[in-house]
Amino acid sequence: MLETRPKPFQEFAPLVGKVALITGGSRGIGAAISAELARCGAHTIVNYVRGKDAAEQTVGQIVEAGGSARSEAGDVADEASVKAMVERIVEKDGKIDILVNNAGILRDRTFRKMSLSDWREVIDTNLCSVMNTCHFIVPHMIEQQSGRIVNISSFVGQMGNFGQANYSAAKAGIIGFTKSLAIELARYNIMVNTVCPGFVNTEMWRSVPEPIQEKILDRIPMHRVAEPDEIARGVRFLVTEADYITGQSLNINGGIYMGW
Ligand code: NDP
Repeated sequence: MLETRPKPFQEFAPLVGKVALITGGSRGIGAAISAELARCGAHTIVNYVRGKDAAEQTVGQIVEAGGSARSEAGDVADEASVKAMVERIVEKDGKIDILVNNAGILRDRTFRKMSLSDWREVIDTNLCSVMNTCHFIVPHMIEQQSGRIVNISSFVGQMGNFGQANYSAAKAGIIGFTKSLAIELARYNIMVNTVCPGFVNTEMWRSVPEPIQEKILDRIPMHRVAEPDEIARGVRFLVTEADYITGQSLNINGGIYMGW
């Protein structure tokens, strides 16, 4: 059988000496990304906003497995909170080499029922957050003439979805933002890419009622949702191998969207 997993700690460690910040790293896809990058040797900063216990648990699992990690509170939707968090990280850890913008929320409603606060909360947390972190972290990356940024979008940003006008707009915005930033930052050896997952087995997916889950599975050619680990491996690829890949979207979606 083909070996698809990276080798255990120390044997496969292209990220030794690198510091990685994963927003919303406390659970779901973010926790899997944190573990994956730590497995490759990165010192991993696991960001959370409310879930301190979950963040500590993720950190504990990484450290127990031989990796290096710590948690860091910060509300990515809030500019002042991000500024303070970045200052703390630079002071304690010296730098940020890798930024994974993963934090996200849902406030699903049909457009007729969607309030302006449903709209603003999702745009602030899923899209403005990416500007907030990049605004304070990119200057450090420019100074060190290197960096890797991976923004977690969604196939919903590419094809739209019923009841998700706010979320689709935020996720599509991330793709456009990524492309422009990639053009501007390539000269500093900073690669900026997007990962667009399909449905993934996290709390977000488990909150979907079972009859609707069945209908969704019928639309996925692979007829299953992804495990968080399968998204994390795509992020690892972009962080460790993307020396000549920038401004791209990596679709990890079981075939639900095949646009170009
Ligand atoms: P979860 O709901 O499982 O986890 C969300 C994470 O985001 C938590 O760690 C949460 O922290 C954090 N977070 C939320 N708001 C903030 C904030 N204001 N500041 C800092 N952190 C915050 O989500 P998933 O793992 O399912 O999703 C992760 C990303 O992947 C999201 O961007 C999502 O849109 C995207 N995605 C998910 C898919 C899916 O099917 N699950 C499909 C496609 C994309 P805390 O615990 O502290 O609240």
